[in-house]
Amino acid sequence: MISGIWYTEDHKDGVTLSLKVKETLVSKRTPFQKLDIYETEKYGTLLTLDDLVMTTTKDEFVYHELITHVPLFAHKQPERVLIIGGGDGGTAREVVKHPTVTHVDMVEIDQDVVEMSKQYMPFLSEDLTNPKVHLFFQDGVEFVKKASTAYDVIIIDSTDPIGPGEGLFNSEFYTNCLKLLSDDGILVAQAESVFNCPDWVWQTFAKLREVFPVVKAYLGTIPTYPGGLWSFAFCCKQPEVAQFFDEARYEKLQLDLRYYNQAIHRACFALPNFVQKLCQGR
Ligand code: SAM
Repeated sequence: MISGIWYTEDHKDGVTLSLKVKETLVSKRTPFQKLDIYETEKYGTLLTLDDLVMTTTKDEFVYHELITHVPLFAHKQPERVLIIGGGDGGTAREVVKHPTVTHVDMVEIDQDVVEMSKQYMPFLSEDLTNPKVHLFFQDGVEFVKKASTAYDVIIIDSTDPIGPGEGLFNSEFYTNCLKLLSDDGILVAQAESVFNCPDWVWQTFAKLREVFPVVKAYLGTIPTYPGGLWSFAFCCKQPEVAQFFDEARYEKLQLDLRYYNQAIHRACFALPNFVQKLCQGR
């Protein structure tokens, strides 16, 4: 909600996040959701969907680097990548930094998110025109039902399990993703706030464990997301895959990254006890 010069987001239980706004750049209803873009005083450009922060200039790199480089450096030779959601383009931008990647399918339900990001957030959307990136404007749920070619890495860069994103958090969707994953493939999904939405985190991991033989959790700190501490699910078919980290490739590539590095790759899987209980069902 915009009140005076503040964007204020209700985080439940008497907690809000407020960012001082300099200017409202976009405010519209798409066929799927409410989409707003603001220029804020301290966090740069802010994209919200249904009045929830999706990304900001200042902290987007934490989320996009973690959701991308953790699975891509955990895979020995990632070539084919599927992104579900990700309309702002930040995840695709990070994926194409990997020279092994030859083909990226990105399935975004809402074309307006892509168009608005291209117009107002070019630092995120700059690689959506990369020839390796193939855009599909459709529901990710339907895409994975019908697709048949295998992917090395699947990234679920979705909204919350309400509204258009709801179908991206159930067992049927995960089962269809599993079928599309190569034998040594990895699926990663944003898995919600461990402080503000523990029920969503618990349910997401419980459903993933019903479908995937190996499910791990990792964490990152994103100041504009509810509670700050954000969980990601890392799923694969083989236990060895979950142990691997291609440090030599990381060293060789010398990517210009702001958050992710070798130490972060290992450390992000270290979980506080209460998060272990949430994510590992203990
Ligand atoms: N980083 C954000 C977060 O965790 O708050 C999420 C990023 S935002 C780019 C997520 C995208 O998922 C939105 O653009 C939204 O339109 C898209 N999306 C939601 N439901 C979808 C669905 N069923 N199929 C494909 N894309 C979907």
